[in-house]
Amino acid sequence: MGRINLLDPNMVNMIAAGEVIERPASVVKELMENSIDAGATRIQVTLEEGGRRLIAVEDNGSGMDEEDLSRAFETHATSKIKESGDLQRITSLGFRGEALASISTVALVKTVSRLQESAQANSLEIDCGERSPVTPCSGDYGTRMVVRDLFYKLPARRKFLRTANTEMGHITEQFARIVLAHLDLAFTLTHHRRELYRLAAGESLDSRIKKLFPSLLEGEEDAFISARSQEKEIEVVALLGKPSLSRTTGRYQYVFLNGRAIKDKVITHAIKEAYWGLLEPQRYPVVFLFVTMPFDDYDVNVHPTKIEVRFFKSNLLHSQILGCLREKLLGSDLHVHARLPVTGPRFEASGGTSRGGRSREVADAMASFFKAHKPSAMSDVYSPPNSPSGVRSPQAEYRLGSAREEDATEYAVDRITSLPRNCLQIHNSYIVTETEEGFEIIDQHALHEKLLFETLVQRVEQGDLEAQKLLVPPTLELNESQVAVLKEHRPLINQLGIDIEPFGPRTYAVHSFPTLLAKVDVVQFVLDLIESLEQSGSGKVHDVLSDLLDMSACKAAIKAGQALSQAEMVQLLDDADRADSAFRCPHGRPTTLRFSMEELAKQFLRT
Ligand code: ADP
Ligand code: MG
Repeated sequence: MGRINLLDPNMVNMIAAGEVIERPASVVKELMENSIDAGATRIQVTLEEGGRRLIAVEDNGSGMDEEDLSRAFETHATSKIKESGDLQRITSLGFRGEALASISTVALVKTVSRLQESAQANSLEIDCGERSPVTPCSGDYGTRMVVRDLFYKLPARRKFLRTANTEMGHITEQFARIVLAHLDLAFTLTHHRRELYRLAAGESLDSRIKKLFPSLLEGEEDAFISARSQEKEIEVVALLGKPSLSRTTGRYQYVFLNGRAIKDKVITHAIKEAYWGLLEPQRYPVVFLFVTMPFDDYDVNVHPTKIEVRFFKSNLLHSQILGCLREKLLGSDLHVHARLPVTGPRFEASGGTSRGGRSREVADAMASFFKAHKPSAMSDVYSPPNSPSGVRSPQAEYRLGSAREEDATEYAVDRITSLPRNCLQIHNSYIVTETEEGFEIIDQHALHEKLLFETLVQRVEQGDLEAQKLLVPPTLELNESQVAVLKEHRPLINQLGIDIEPFGPRTYAVHSFPTLLAKVDVVQFVLDLIESLEQSGSGKVHDVLSDLLDMSACKAAIKAGQALSQAEMVQLLDDADRADSAFRCPHGRPTTLRFSMEELAKQFLRT
């Protein structure tokens, strides 16, 4: 007696549903894609309880006649492909013919559809695979699909649905991916009778981005550079976020291929390369990238939800994207400051040959800098040439910071025991200081960031991160998904000393904030915090916390370009002396380059 059974069609569909329909957002995606494939120009999405109770998608597309309506829900029923050759040239969003079959086995589905030329509409109801007959009814032309109570007969799967807010977050993300790729169509998205988005047909990409991600562009003007390239049959069009818009995660990198949102490692890599050197490591640019190419140059049939594709000439695509983006970025005014070579953590006196090469470049850079700045910047700071080792009198030390005398006295009390230091700030970004063996160049931002990071980690571990009550709590507007993240990660956020409470329907107020981060813009910080929490999703609490502290330190630290008084510089260096491993910032970049007198002598050919 054999043990192998043929599964009945309902079982087959339930298994397919496991792949295609993960959560309400997947239903929204499949239904919207069907409407687009049906040639609709207006698509309305209506939801209740984050789609757990109701998802309705209504369109003014081609509609279906009685026969098609009855077939549409069968397994592998599709009007989009016929024979194997069609698989090589998929021009529609759907083609697998399994979405409606899957959805209708795991929910209560009701459809009304009418061909434009027909006088009457038809309706069909399917309750978890159980059909009622198609019946004529009245209705507008186009199709309306209503999906109720997803997974209600599958408690094991229903259990995996999250709160309405979290599900709404996933839905708005899918919605964004679709509407950004179809600017020519009109969309609305309504949740519990509240219209969250209304997007007009023919709206610009800029305008849609602003509506979809209001917090992304807050306070940013001209945040994007547009780039375009056409090589043979491949067109690349992109909006490139300036480095100032960069994020801690890659969530604002949207890639579209012929109207379909995709994730592709090759393209992601090309984007990363294009921004090389323009962003700090671990920062991600904001990019919206649209690729148009012949349908037979890639295969969509590699992933059930079609989020991944296989390019036949991925090398060509990579180089076209990289070339186009890089050229545009380098040709734009991004206020990028040239950087010293920063590969080795320290340049020791006995540096090997390769280090010698790099030190030479640094020495050259230094030499030309000092040459250019000698008369004005140096006369105050350095002692007369006949002074043997450049040691100066204590009063001279504060002269550079004379505009900030109060600071100097305030700090001076603290550091009575520390040695006098010679410090020179160059380009408001680096501090050059004398050491016993020679001199050091310190990246003020990197060093301060490192010190803050260590302090934050220590305080959080010991549970004594001090927070201050904000007298006038700043408020911010959050969308559904942001609220969801906030609720989910409340303990972690509290651990950081941040207290956020609801204030109005979508408004939240920040009541307390960590004292250590006093100089940070509270609202922007909270928005960024939510964004990184959203990305880290199910990551380990420890890792998430460490990322957050990293971000906090980066934001609170002295910036490159910020003028420091002599006292502030000295304070920073003293703090560094007291800390352990201050020579590397949390991002793994060095904070300090150290040079010996020997090295200098060698570079000036004195040996
Ligand atoms: P696929 O989209 O892969 O073809 P689906 O299960 O999503 O498979 O849909 C099955 C068929 O039902 C489609 O091929 C199409 O002919 C028809 N259909 C689905 N939704 C609509 C709609 N909104 N308007 C017109 N026809 C539709
Ligand atoms: Mg489909």
